[in-house]
Amino acid sequence: MMLATLPTQARTHNYDITVSDDLRQVHVQAELDGAAVLRARQGRSRRLHSATTCEGKPLDARRNRIDPNGATCLRYTHSLEAVDERFSPADVLTTTTSEWLWLPRFEDNASVNIRVHLPEGINAHLPFDQAGDHYVLRASPGSSRGLALFGRFASTQIVLPDTQLRASLIGAHGQEQKLTRWLTAAAMDVWQIGERFPNPQASVVVVDVPGSTGEAVPFGHVIRDGSEMVRFFVQAQSREAALLGDWTATHEFAHLLLPYVREKWISEGFASYYQNVLLARRGVYSEAEAWRRLTHAFARAREIDNPPSPNDTEHDEFWRVRMLIYWSGAALALMADTAWRAQDDTSLDAALARLGRCCLPSPDTWSGQALFSRLDALNGAPRLRALYDRYADSPGLPPVETLYPALGIRTDGSRITLDDAAPLAAVRRAIMGRE
Ligand SMILES: [Zn+2]
Repeated sequence: MMLATLPTQARTHNYDITVSDDLRQVHVQAELDGAAVLRARQGRSRRLHSATTCEGKPLDARRNRIDPNGATCLRYTHSLEAVDERFSPADVLTTTTSEWLWLPRFEDNASVNIRVHLPEGINAHLPFDQAGDHYVLRASPGSSRGLALFGRFASTQIVLPDTQLRASLIGAHGQEQKLTRWLTAAAMDVWQIGERFPNPQASVVVVDVPGSTGEAVPFGHVIRDGSEMVRFFVQAQSREAALLGDWTATHEFAHLLLPYVREKWISEGFASYYQNVLLARRGVYSEAEAWRRLTHAFARAREIDNPPSPNDTEHDEFWRVRMLIYWSGAALALMADTAWRAQDDTSLDAALARLGRCCLPSPDTWSGQALFSRLDALNGAPRLRALYDRYADSPGLPPVETLYPALGIRTDGSRITLDDAAPLAAVRRAIMGRE
């Protein structure tokens, strides 16, 4: 009898990674749980200096594959190439594991234990989960490409009530304490939702880009390849108040409240909603200022001529439909949040807190439908999925302004007046307030 229905056993591979003294090469020894072809997503065999079994027998390497020829212990040496050179100071090398980390194909429940050996005085920031004296790589959505930094830079911890997130500060000498306070405030904004950070293993890289623009934090992004990493480009010389008043870090950390979602307008929309909600809750924005910013963004999204549906924004020119990508999901978030609070005695916060506990971090790429059905089920009150079915394929911004009279939000040009006698004024205040 075949036992074909038994689940495949989780495989664990063991890797030892040694970085050369000149930071130009990485030597890797891979002890595999069963012989397997090694590949790297952006691997090129011409950057492989050697590939052998652990006994020294040469192996065949072509394009992006190393054939193990039956061996389970392999060694290879690969060059380390800089990516994003413009943003790295001379004493820090930014590389991507998608070029030099050659791995067996692994299922969701497989993992790789990784031990890293660095030259004296060299620090590393790697896209793997930390587990005591080694790292663990698990399956991930593979959005963007995992970054691995080597060099001389400062490390810090973002201390939250129940966890610490590791952060590396590239450049920014002498600004470490101020930057740590800024990151902690933004991470705490997101921690408040469910009193838990969505991924305690997430890590942060901050790169100083002096003199880039007028903004304190010109850019940030989330990378989900290996462990989740959030990278910020900052003007580290900025005043602390300017950093604390900037929404970028709260927006990026809020992305971690959701798994990786196929539809960009959903992930951007929810992060954009929460950047305003959470900065109001921290007291950076007044309640009226937060509503003014949301209303202004919704109005700009409405100005797009001949707008595509949210689902069709990905086929349009990014700069033309950018406001729809960033705010149509925010409109749905507000519509669901209002309905949950007004009629079901629950909230979007509650749904996301439950999602974090059941399902994050997630190795999968989720569809909008699956995500919204799950959030509805977690709250025991279906709201989001119906909104998706109604508006995801209808042109333009969902009709969020129809809620305004009940919420007590009046607009007059760029001015906002809040009416506390409106039927859902308490819901409106609760969204922007701390319970
Ligand atoms: Zn974003």
